Amino acid sequence: MAHVEPGICMFDRQQEEIRLASLHATSILDTPPEAAYDTITRLAAEYFQAGAAVLDFADRSRVWVKSLWGCHTYPQKIVREMPRTGSLFDLTVAADGPLEILDLPQDPAFEGRLALLKQLHVGSLVSVPVRSSDGIILGALTIFWDRPHTALEDDGLRMLEGLADMASSQLELRRLRRNMSLRKNRRPHPILRRLDTWPRRSDLLRAIEERQFVLHYQPEIDLSTRRIVALEALIRWDHPDRGLIAPMDFIPMAEETGLILPIGDWVMEEACRQIQIWKQQDPDHSNLRICVNLSARQFSRPGLTDHVEALLLQTGVAAQQLGLEMTESSLIPNMHTALEVLTSLRKLGVSLLLDDFGTGYSSLNHLHSFPFDVLKIDRIFVTRMTNGDQPLQIVRTIIELARVLGMDVVAEGIDSTDHYRLLRQLGCRYGQGYLFSEPLSAEAVTRLLSLPGRVLPEAEMVGVRRDDICFQEPDVLRVLRGGNGLSQIEKP
Ligand code: C2E
Ligand code: MG
Ligand code: MG
Repeated sequence: MAHVEPGICMFDRQQEEIRLASLHATSILDTPPEAAYDTITRLAAEYFQAGAAVLDFADRSRVWVKSLWGCHTYPQKIVREMPRTGSLFDLTVAADGPLEILDLPQDPAFEGRLALLKQLHVGSLVSVPVRSSDGIILGALTIFWDRPHTALEDDGLRMLEGLADMASSQLELRRLRRNMSLRKNRRPHPILRRLDTWPRRSDLLRAIEERQFVLHYQPEIDLSTRRIVALEALIRWDHPDRGLIAPMDFIPMAEETGLILPIGDWVMEEACRQIQIWKQQDPDHSNLRICVNLSARQFSRPGLTDHVEALLLQTGVAAQQLGLEMTESSLIPNMHTALEVLTSLRKLGVSLLLDDFGTGYSSLNHLHSFPFDVLKIDRIFVTRMTNGDQPLQIVRTIIELARVLGMDVVAEGIDSTDHYRLLRQLGCRYGQGYLFSEPLSAEAVTRLLSLPGRVLPEAEMVGVRRDDICFQEPDVLRVLRGGNGLSQIEKP
């Protein structure tokens, strides 16, 4: 933990130019308060039982407060903007890492400095940098107590750094969205675009009429036992000429044309029908959950809860066996009714899963506001976990937050034993990904479910590479034909 003498911060001018350019690319300066950042400061203040938490960024001359949580006795305007010279922000930049001041009034180095902090009766603080994806310090997240404090334990420090990393990932998404919207403006007019867009509404209508959609199912695993605890239903279009088409190639058009409603109804019915078949084959599968993805249109449809309730009654599926996955973007257009709908679905007894967590507009905000049972950490964070500290910290923090909020966590996109090992070390309970199984047809899943205890073979125990044991459909069948143990796997 660094201790920096105030007044000795000398910045490399070139570094500072790079920092400012990186900051400007996020267009964060001078923007109004945003829920995502407020949630970060709120979580930081609550977690550390601090009087206040502040997230700030600095341009050449000012420190600008993006979010302040706590300090209710002080008007926001006092701290919304401050001169940068002699600021805490500069100390954090100079420390280039966590900065801890545990007894500010007694610290002679701060005599006459950081006057505002003294005026606000700050007794102690810990500040950590908020960095860009290439490590440049863009801002700082600071927690304040009104009295002296003991040094943070390693775990605490990691938590604070994890929250700072979440602020970084929100900034990164902001930068990407900004670039995307700049690029989008250069695209041809939507009407011109639509002329050569496939599929058209008529293609989708024919697919519905001719029953060309199929569901594949991806197992979700208890990472400590490798037992299959749930299956995610993922739609594919089995096109007579084009072959198997991925959902991202037709779901957007289905949403745009409203045909996602009949398609989504079919998905839910088919998934419920299939889970009943598995349950009939083995009553032990009555604790297996089937999860269905809902899109924004389905979510905003009036009477969604009644529809789900009727379907459960009609198919005989217990509510606890059905999970509904939705992303934040599907909640955003209907924020005012979202809470109501989610609450009534939860009352029914179905599980609610927040999909692709971490990539949305204000992920953190929804954690507090909505009654989700499960958080699914987006694949992007899991994939990058092995490439650097920042994504690892984010995953760690999401897992820790979920624990504090009493939610389960599922990590998506586990496709290497390194991901698996790291997630287990971080205490992540559930996961899914190609390492265990790709999405499979119902028949292939039936065979997987027949494994004793629904436990998947352990890949690393026999030291095989993932390529040797990839559970694509033919391999799964080969594993199962050979028996249940890994020793019987035929290597390709
Ligand atoms: P999702 O719900 O986040 O589903 C997970 C996606 O990640 C699936 O892609 C799955 O095949 C893929 N995946 C799982 N493990 C791995 C891995 O280890 N590595 C990699 N690279 N990918 C992995 P898929 O099936 O293409 O589905 C994409 C998205 O389409 C889904 O994302 C979901 O948002 C949407 N979707 C799928 N089925 C439906 C549906 O029935 N209704 C609606 N509304 N959306 C659906
Ligand atoms: Mg999903
Ligand atoms: Mg997902």
